[in-house]
Order: sequence, then structure tokens, then C-alpha cells
Amino acid sequence: MKAVVWQHTNKMGVESVPDPTLLLSTDAIVRVTSTAICGSDLHLLDGYIPGMERGDIVGHEFMGEVVEVGRDVRRVRVGDRVVVPFNLACGVCDPCRRGLFSACDNSNPAPNARTVEALYGAMSPGGLFGYSHLFGGYAGGQAQFVRVPFADVGCFKIETDLRDEQVLFLTDIFPTGYQAAEQCGIVPGRDVVAVFGAGPVGQFAARSALMLGAAHVIVVDRVPERLSMAEAAGCQTINYEKEDVLVALRDATGGRGPDHVIDAVGLEAHGHGPGALLDTAEQKMRMSLDRITAVRWAILSCAKGGTVSMAGVYAGLVDKFPLGAAFGKGLVFRMGQTHTHRYVIPLLERIEAGQIDPSFVITHRASLDEAPELYKTFRDKKDGCIKVVLDPWG
Ligand code: NAD
Ligand code: ZN
Repeated sequence: MKAVVWQHTNKMGVESVPDPTLLLSTDAIVRVTSTAICGSDLHLLDGYIPGMERGDIVGHEFMGEVVEVGRDVRRVRVGDRVVVPFNLACGVCDPCRRGLFSACDNSNPAPNARTVEALYGAMSPGGLFGYSHLFGGYAGGQAQFVRVPFADVGCFKIETDLRDEQVLFLTDIFPTGYQAAEQCGIVPGRDVVAVFGAGPVGQFAARSALMLGAAHVIVVDRVPERLSMAEAAGCQTINYEKEDVLVALRDATGGRGPDHVIDAVGLEAHGHGPGALLDTAEQKMRMSLDRITAVRWAILSCAKGGTVSMAGVYAGLVDKFPLGAAFGKGLVFRMGQTHTHRYVIPLLERIEAGQIDPSFVITHRASLDEAPELYKTFRDKKDGCIKVVLDPWG
């Protein structure tokens, strides 16, 4: 089959690779009908996330049709149309039972204990599709077929006639933006929410904050097309290259600052490319954080007692946080990988009810062959690119 593979830092390729097969009785094989490129994939391209090997199949936002199931799969059948969360979860361990699906104890064998310890304090994170051997080394879904372990937990049937493009983002960016907003504890009709980053995650965070009743949402970025997309949803926007962000946020909130601030930027705030220049895992983990402005802006702008909710991905050691400001204002920090499985059904219901059509975010549609070029277009924000959807059979 055809698949997008990581070749080395700054280079994705399309290769012909063996079809996946069932390895465990709880696996399913899905024929991928739609798959997307995520901002998180850019961290692999940039070389920020260690543990990639040449030829690893990337991609963690995908959906399709079940074509084969292991003998212990009960809830999914051949022919089912499914969306698959980007994280793998066993469904029965203690974190999964508590709804902390992204922290599953059983989905990541964590082969490189030293790296994991340095990055995560000895606690292995859960497994992810297409996201390095640090997260289980599972082949990703930017391919014609994908093996889905824990199929009963990870395959969510889509039984409506909604198009792929309307449900594909239930695999990641819609739940991710929604979780970021939900964990702010927005008081409907009163709270002002600022969202740093108007990429796909920021777009869903802003719309989710509005759905959860935020009185006002302010989106900060520098890319005009992305700011316009946020404005179309009714958000105020700030271009941080043209305005002093902290002053503009104070002015927009009568001096008190946004009640909650969402960071939908992550490693991007460090700039693309430098990761490629860092050689050792140690260097990659100790990035100079002078440039991680989004977190700093979030802390400095947030109102007293507010929430800093971080959806953006960070890795390694981060210094120079304005911790005094956070302490003085009594801020609450919420962060982490999304517990996607929690949100698929409630958010599907919102789509079915017509509250949101997630396809608004798509700007580019292409075949797998075009993916390597589109990774760069998306990374460099060229050609108005906000979200790329790939057709593996196109
Ligand atoms: P993206 O790279 O398209 O978007 C990032 C946006 O941030 C860009 O529009 C960029 O212009 C903007 N930006 C850069 N520096 C900024 C700054 N200082 N202030 C304000 N905006 C700034 O990516 P995306 O797909 O929207 O993803 C955003 C982040 O969310 C990434 O770090 C991604 O890895 C992460 N993510 C996390 C999860 C999770 O489970 N928590 C899931 C998916 C994605
Ligand atoms: Zn993603």
C-alpha cells in the first residue's frame, strides 16, 4: 500500500510499504478513506519529538471502513464506517476507567525508558498513532490501511450520512479544542476567553468556547487568513505582529485580562526549523524557551483566579516561566493530550444537531502523493493553508 513516511528531519516521503495485518485478536484493520495533517505532525517534521525512525508511517487523524477484525473484537464489524481517536487506549486500566484515555497504562510499552524519564518523569504517556517510538511506535493513518489495536475501544461507528469531512476531526482537533475550552470552566454569559494560536486547534478552541457560552472570545495570531476565519465565527482578533498583545488584551477586557487563556500554539511558538538543528535528544529536550512567548503571554495576560489551558504540545524541559505572576494571581493550569474518547460521541451529537460543521477549517484537499509538499505549505502557512485533508485513494 501507499503511505506517508518520515524519512528524516524536514523530509516526509510517500512510499510503497507492506499492508498492515492483524497482530492481536483485539485488532482491526481499517481502509482509510480520509486522513489529515495536524500541527502535531509538524513537530515530527521539525525534529522536536525524538524517537522517529526512517520509514515510520505518520498520521493520527484518520477514518475509514473496517475491513478485517480479530476474533476477540465484539463491538465493531467488517463494513462499519468508523472514526478513530489519535490516542490508543485499552479501556480497562485505571487511567482509562477514570476517563484519562490519553494516559492509558497499557498502550505504550515505552521502549526507551531513559528518554521517557527525562521527558515525562518516569511515567510513560499513552500510545499514539504515527507518533514516534516514544509513544509506542504505532504505524499511522496517512496510508491506505491502518492497524487499529484495542479496536473495540478505538473505533467509533458513524451511522449517519454525514460526509467524512464533517466527522474526520472528531479524531483529534475538535475534541482537542473542545477540551481546552471545557477545562477553563467558562461561566456562560460572563467570561472572556483568549485563544493564542489560530491554527486548526485554536479555531476549534474558539468555537468551543463560544458553544460553552463565553461572552467574548479573542483570538491571537499573526496569519491574516487564520484571523479572518476566527472573525467569521464572531471572535475579536489581535495580530501580535501589529499590536502589543498584553496591552490589547487589557484594553479589550476593561483592564482585568481575559478570564481564561487557551494556548493552542505549543512548540510552534519556538519557530519551525530550529528543532532540526538540535542534534542530541538532550538538546532537543532543553530548548531555550526565550521564544516560547505564547505561554508567557497566557500567564501574564490572564485575569486573577483564571485558567491557563494548554492544548499546544510541549516536550522536554521548559524554563523561565513567569511563575511569580501565576502564583500572585492564583492561576489554575490545565493541560495535556486530549482524552479524545470522552468527546467523540457528545461532539458527534453537536455536529448532528447542526451546532457546528467542522469542515469549515479545510482549505486544502489532496492525494497522498501530494502530502510531502503540503506538509511544507501547512508549516509555512503558504497559500492560505489552514487544514489539509488527504484522500489515500485519490
Ligand atoms: P498550527 O501549527 O497550524 O497552529 C499554530 C498557530 O500558532 C499558527 O497559526 C501560528 O501562527 C500561531 N502562533 C505561533 N506563535 C504564536 C504566538 N506566540 N502567539 C499566538 N499565536 C502563535 O497547529 P494546530 O494544528 O492548530 O495545533 C496547535 C498546537 O496544538 C500544536 O502544538 C499541536 O501539536 C497541538 N495539539 C495538541 C493536541 C493535544 O492532545 N493536546 C492535539 C492536537 C494538536
Ligand atoms: Zn493531531
